[in-house]
Amino acid sequence: MLLRHTNKDIKERKALNVNPAKTCQPIGAMYASLGIHGCLPHSHGSQGCCAYHRSALTRHYREPVMAATSSFTEGSSVFGGQANLIQAIDNIFTTYDPDIIAVHTTCLSETIGDDVNQITIKAVKDGKVPKGKYVIHASTPSYVGSHVTGFSNMTKAMVMHFAKSTGKPNGKYNIIPGYVEPSDMTEIKRIVEKLGIKPILFPDTSNVLNGPQTGRYSMFPEGGVTIDELKSSGDSMGTIALGSLASADAARSLDSKWRVPCQVQDLPIGLAATDRFVNALRIAAGVSVPDEITRERGQLLDIITDMHQYFYGKKVALSGDPDHLISLTEFLVSIDMAPVHIVTGTSGKDFEKRIQDITSHLPYKVNVKAGGDMFTLHQWIKNEPVDLLIANTYGKYIARDDDIPFIRYGFPILDRIGHSYFPSVCYRGGIRLLEKILDALMDRLDRDAPEEKFELVM
Ligand code: SF4
Repeated sequence: MLLRHTNKDIKERKALNVNPAKTCQPIGAMYASLGIHGCLPHSHGSQGCCAYHRSALTRHYREPVMAATSSFTEGSSVFGGQANLIQAIDNIFTTYDPDIIAVHTTCLSETIGDDVNQITIKAVKDGKVPKGKYVIHASTPSYVGSHVTGFSNMTKAMVMHFAKSTGKPNGKYNIIPGYVEPSDMTEIKRIVEKLGIKPILFPDTSNVLNGPQTGRYSMFPEGGVTIDELKSSGDSMGTIALGSLASADAARSLDSKWRVPCQVQDLPIGLAATDRFVNALRIAAGVSVPDEITRERGQLLDIITDMHQYFYGKKVALSGDPDHLISLTEFLVSIDMAPVHIVTGTSGKDFEKRIQDITSHLPYKVNVKAGGDMFTLHQWIKNEPVDLLIANTYGKYIARDDDIPFIRYGFPILDRIGHSYFPSVCYRGGIRLLEKILDALMDRLDRDAPEEKFELVM
C-alpha cells in the first residue's frame, strides 16, 4: 500500500535517506545501559527523544523500559543543559535509587556542545551522587552513526569508567555479545560456560528485557552485568568481542588500557561463524568441545543436508545491522542460497568489503550498500525480484508490495514476538533460523501449488 509507487529507476542520492535502515544512536545506548544491573538510563536532551527511544525498546521487547530525561526546554536549548542534568541526577538517586545512571546525549545536547563529563564531575563535587553510586556517560549524537554505534559507545563507556587492573587475574573471560537479543545473550553464556569458561558478559540484557510475569513490577530486574564484574573486567584473561561494529571498541579499549588481550569475531550466526566462536573458546579454555555442543552442531548440519533442495538457488534480499548481516550472508551462502541485495543503514566501508569477500566467488553480482536505505533495497528488488526478504518489521511494506515471503529479523520487530525468547545465535539459533526460512519458503510453495502438486509430504 504505502510503497506502491516505488519505481525501478535508481538515482544516485547523497543528501536524502528514504525509509532508513537504522534507528538513532541513543536507542542503542539505552539498550546497552539496560544490560547493567541496577541501571537507569538517562537521556540528556528533550523529552520527545527519550519518549521515542523508550517506546521503540518497549515495543520491540514488550517490557516496560524505564529511562529518565533532562527534559530540555527552550532555555536549556539556548543556555545549555547543565542545570537540568545535575537536578535530574539528584532527583533520580533520591526518588528511584538506582546503583548507576548511564547518561547518553542526543542531537540537541551535542549540538549545544554540553560537556557531560564536566557536568557529571560537578554533580559528584556538589554531592549529588551518593557514596557507592555511579554516573557514566557516552556521547551519542544521532546525526552520525546508528543504534549500533550508540550501543558500541555505551559499552565502551562501561569499561572506560569501571575496568581496573589489580594485578591479580580473575580467571575469567570478558565476552561482549554485541547488539543481540536477550535470548542470544543467554545462549552465548550457555555455550561459553559449557566450554568451562567463566564469563563476564557485558552488557547483558537477559532477564532484564525478557523476564517472566511475576505479578510484581521491579524497576531493576534480576539480570544485567554487575558493577563489580565490570570493575573486574580489567583482570580478565582475555576478551572475545562478537561483532566488530558493536563490540570491538570496548574490547580494544580494555586491551590498550589494561593489557587484556582481545580478539574480535563475527557474531556466531550460522555454522561457520559459530564454529569459529566455539574454536576460540576451546583454545582459550584448553579443552575439547563437549559432546553436547558437537551434537547440536550435527543437528544443524543435518537440517542443512535434509532440506538443501529448498534452499538451493533461492534469491534473498537482506536489510539490518552490519554485524548481523555479515554472519547471515555467510550462512546463506554456505547453504547455497543466493543473497543478492544487502543493505545496512549503518555507515562503514568495511561492511561492503566483508560482504564482497564473502560473496566474491559467486557467479552473480551482489548489490551491497552501507549507509543505505530501504528505498534503495526496494528498487533493487523491483529490478531483480527475490524469493525471500529478511529485514526488521519495516520490511513488511516491501514484502506486501512485491508479494515476497518475509522473515522478521533484527531491530526493531514491532509486530511479532519470539525474538526475545528464542536465540538465533550459535548452533541452536541456526536451527531456528533455518526453521523460519523453511516455513516462509514452504508456505509459499503450498500457497502457489496447483492442486495436483499440493503435496502432503515435502
Ligand atoms: S534522531 Fe536525534 S532528535 Fe531524533 S530522536 Fe534521535 S536523538 Fe532525538
